[in-house]
Amino acid sequence: MVKVLAILYDGGKHAEEQPKLLGTTENALGMRPYCEKNGIELVVTSDKEGPDSEFNKHIVDADVLITTPFHPGYLTRELIATAKNLKLAITAGVGSDHVDLNAANERKITVAEVTGSNVVSVAEHVIMTILVLVRNFVPAHEQIKAGDWEVAAVAKGEYDLEGKVVGTLGAGRIGFRVLQRLKPFDCKELLYYDYNSLPEDAAKEVGVRRVEDLKDFLSQCDVVTLNCPLHEGTKGIINKETISYMKDGAWLVNTARGALCVAEDVAEAVNSGKLSGYGGDVWPKQPAPADHCWRTMANPLTKGGNAMVPHMSGTSLDAQIRYANGAIKILDNWRNGVPQTQSDLITENGEYATLSYGQRTGKK
Ligand code: NAD
Repeated sequence: MVKVLAILYDGGKHAEEQPKLLGTTENALGMRPYCEKNGIELVVTSDKEGPDSEFNKHIVDADVLITTPFHPGYLTRELIATAKNLKLAITAGVGSDHVDLNAANERKITVAEVTGSNVVSVAEHVIMTILVLVRNFVPAHEQIKAGDWEVAAVAKGEYDLEGKVVGTLGAGRIGFRVLQRLKPFDCKELLYYDYNSLPEDAAKEVGVRRVEDLKDFLSQCDVVTLNCPLHEGTKGIINKETISYMKDGAWLVNTARGALCVAEDVAEAVNSGKLSGYGGDVWPKQPAPADHCWRTMANPLTKGGNAMVPHMSGTSLDAQIRYANGAIKILDNWRNGVPQTQSDLITENGEYATLSYGQRTGKK
């Protein structure tokens, strides 16, 4: 009997109120009927931390792991060593850095994700976060809720997006969709930094210019948005040194992965006023601890500049149906020996199957 282990977040009363919350333990990505019909043992849990967790207990004999980036089951090298039967790790969503991909390759574990399932959801969140920061929305809304009215206090940190230089670090599916959505804002210039170049017609469509040197890229942007996967080449790519290349008063948006940034360096840059603001939904470790420095950092002038939310951009209800169905399809392909959609594959047969997780040799 095939055993599938699903690590998902708990919905509690929210899953009762909203049955469309498919990514919860209660609704189990809508896969219970599929598993019952096909005689699959399905274990669903949110308990994922520590040696006594359900995750550690059940991974030992699971054939398939399914998890989401929103409440990731971190499949470390150590856990992979205990997971004797594991053949397939499915990411219900996009971004598979919660798996030690090199260790998965050594064991020939296939890692697949539902490519494209939430890229528009994230791109919309990026645009929202840029506007929330640049327009200094959060302190203004807090002022209203507090019963106050002091226009100058919030206008002193409020700008237009029009006329700014905006750059995306990573110009794949999400980065490109962000650029498409930025076009009507009449920014001064749109830039991208990526070792893979955009097709010429796509770059022309959005009017974006490629900058090949990271320092050069960061130093030209008023707004930087991070849209690349987390891997050895991008971990901590935003740190004290690279932040120093950025313009004073720039804004930084990160909906890609928390660990792309050195958290303390970002908080220090916001608290000192070097950055006007930082916003996003991804945290170095999730759930984020209650005392994480990104929860309370604030720009000294505006007392705002913080647009952090829990990991939610890619888990809109519209996205959930797409990644739930996509995860079942990947499982079904695997059970029936049907080749996976190539673009869903991150690793297969002991090799990286994508160009997005670093510049490697021997890639397909
Ligand atoms: P994608 O594979 O289509 O694009 C990623 C791009 O990043 C590629 O063009 C790649 O070449 C580029 N890249 C990789 N390393 C780089 C580096 N060192 N410097 C510059 N560019 C680099 O992926 P996507 O669908 O656009 O998703 C990107 C990432 O966004 C995911 O891997 C995931 O981490 C994150 N994501 C977050 C959410 C969320 O809910 N917050 C949802 C979906 C995806």
